Amino acid sequence: MSAAEYPAPLALLREDLRGFAGYKSARSESLNGSVWLNANESAWNNAADGEGALRRYPDPQPARVRAALAGLYGCTPEQLLAGRGSDEGIDLLLRAFCRPGGDAVVITPPTFGMYAVCARLHGTRVVEVPLVEGEGGFACDFEAVAQAAEAASAKLVFLCSPGNPSGTLLPLDAIAALAQRLRASALVVVDEAYLEYAQASSAVSLIERLPNVVVLRTLSKAHALAAARIGSTIADAEVIAALQRCQAPYPLPAPCVAMALRALDDSAAALSRARAGACALERERLYARLVGLPGVRRVYPSQANFLLLRFDDAQAAFDALIDAGVVVRDMRAAPQLGDALRISLGTAEQNDRVVETLARLGARERAA
Ligand SMILES: *Cc1c(COP(=O)(O)O)cnc(C)c1O
Repeated sequence: MSAAEYPAPLALLREDLRGFAGYKSARSESLNGSVWLNANESAWNNAADGEGALRRYPDPQPARVRAALAGLYGCTPEQLLAGRGSDEGIDLLLRAFCRPGGDAVVITPPTFGMYAVCARLHGTRVVEVPLVEGEGGFACDFEAVAQAAEAASAKLVFLCSPGNPSGTLLPLDAIAALAQRLRASALVVVDEAYLEYAQASSAVSLIERLPNVVVLRTLSKAHALAAARIGSTIADAEVIAALQRCQAPYPLPAPCVAMALRALDDSAAALSRARAGACALERERLYARLVGLPGVRRVYPSQANFLLLRFDDAQAAFDALIDAGVVVRDMRAAPQLGDALRISLGTAEQNDRVVETLARLGARERAA
């Protein structure tokens, strides 16, 4: 199918939002002047704000940060919307493409909790297609996802690659085939919050050919800026423009934008890349030490910066780690994970403490 015959993904936008212009902020008009009296800002700086860097409302999408993020992720600035974490991207997609009370989305549990939380808040039905556990860990049943999306006329399919908490990387050709099959009915959203740890290609490369693919990226994990709340939604330029009309007027706080620009200059970005690579090596070292510990039933292969483990007694493992001052994520409430904990990668010393604590617990349990 040629690009011209391809149904525009905009056809999937909520019908009642087709002509919606969103809020016109004082910063969205392109006017020239030297005295700005159009936004009811203070004429004086706050005493705590030195040169007054924060006196005026910020640019909604500063061109420099948009260009820097687009360069980082391999898209054009028009294909990228920066927002308050990729969490905001999830919320905007739901609000723009799903009718409250009417439409559905597909998720693949166990997966990141925000897809279902945002859907619930927006009154959108959630259809679950569980990941399938096998020899190599959790896998996505793409055929079942396609069938469920078709049966429910789902508007969005949320995939997470590498998956949180599964750690599984999804094959790009399977994502592409799914997007091709659902091209007239759904956006396929690929959450790549952990892709930096995987040494794999991004689904961004699919968007040109398959404009119903949407990719979520973030500075929160491999770039170590979780508190700056800078995430990116990457999609067809028309989809991005539609999402921006649904976004809050001033989503990016100026200090966070300044920090993101510093973090994306060449040397800082290279250091983040090197750290993510080192993290992947440390992950394999930790994996090898945890596999086979008494009391550890299974350690899942991971392409992210965490490991998912099953235990004979997950409560005892959780408690022993707490006693050692180590807080990990209890996954037991998640589907299929009634005996599992998720452990983020720390420094080598911190990871050693995890291994030693679990080894001691295993030895004690075995003796008992
Ligand atoms: C951490 C995480 C995010 C959240 O990212 P923010 O950019 O901090 O909002 C998104 N998706 C997944 C799968 C995550 O684990």
